[in-house]
Amino acid sequence: MTLSQNSLLRAISIDNIKRAIPLGMGQLKRHLIKVPFAVNYDLTYKCNLKCEHCYFFSSVEEKRRENALRPELTDPQWLEVFKYHRSRGITSAAITGGEPTLRMNLLHEAVKIFPRIQIATNGIIKIPRFPGNKQPLIWTSIDGRPETHNAIRGAEIYDRVIENIRDDKRVLISTTLTTSNYDEIEDIVKETIKSNVAGIFFLFYTGYPKDPLLLKGKYLRKAIQSISKVMNEYEDFIVISKMMIQCYITKAHVSDCIFKNGGVQSFYPNGEKKFCVMGNSPLLCANCGCIVPVASHCISKFDPETIEKLKKFPF
Ligand code: SF4
Ligand code: SF4
Repeated sequence: MTLSQNSLLRAISIDNIKRAIPLGMGQLKRHLIKVPFAVNYDLTYKCNLKCEHCYFFSSVEEKRRENALRPELTDPQWLEVFKYHRSRGITSAAITGGEPTLRMNLLHEAVKIFPRIQIATNGIIKIPRFPGNKQPLIWTSIDGRPETHNAIRGAEIYDRVIENIRDDKRVLISTTLTTSNYDEIEDIVKETIKSNVAGIFFLFYTGYPKDPLLLKGKYLRKAIQSISKVMNEYEDFIVISKMMIQCYITKAHVSDCIFKNGGVQSFYPNGEKKFCVMGNSPLLCANCGCIVPVASHCISKFDPETIEKLKKFPF
């Protein structure tokens, strides 16, 4: 039996069918009572880095230019928001930023309130365990070989990040592919697998049409080739399916994106609604490389490989 036949059989398991049902129920509830099944909070404007590809600060800058930037919510205000959303039946929260670990006290509260939490972090500050609560899933960014990662992130942080995530099975490495790192995929996987975390996923940089960091043409093809190669060599470590890779090329996920159809609702640090996690403009959709709508699209097609892979990436 080949590797992929094995994966397919594992995927059509009772467990995976059970896993797909809550997602279907979440979608049904959303249609009936117009409640998103997940929320995404940009918890703070603050960050301890200034990365070259930061979509968060681009969208905040747009707001600033419109003179529409209000202060971020205080701890009590965020707590009220968390509790309000939970009371409406929302069970999953993705916490982004800015750098969410700069408001660690709110992370301690969020894990008490939501059954499922995902935290996207640059990894500089180690996320503690939360005794007595379900542990969050942690998406930690690693964007290249050590020297490339440090150059993209604008600081010498690679070694520290690797130390902070070592042996932590709550961690999935999140690699954003751009024209700066598209040819380092194999090296990134070879190095990060040694840190003994749960796995790695790839997303493609999202930006406005002429953005020089966008992967197109031969650069995109090279990245896809490398991902396919590491998927064959490190199957269990790579949290991405073949159908998801196709989505990054065809953009099939854009028409039924769960941010656009209200399945996930994003919020700025001031509590204001935001178009989606990637920014505040539909002009970004044509070049969307966000893994969330990609994964959701593939699950909605009941792709067995995606369902199997997303055991490590529940949202
Ligand atoms: S760590 Fe994240 S929020 Fe901070 S600058 Fe980098 S990409 Fe932006
Ligand atoms: S940019 Fe991507 S995530 Fe955002 S609304 Fe468009 S398709 Fe969805």
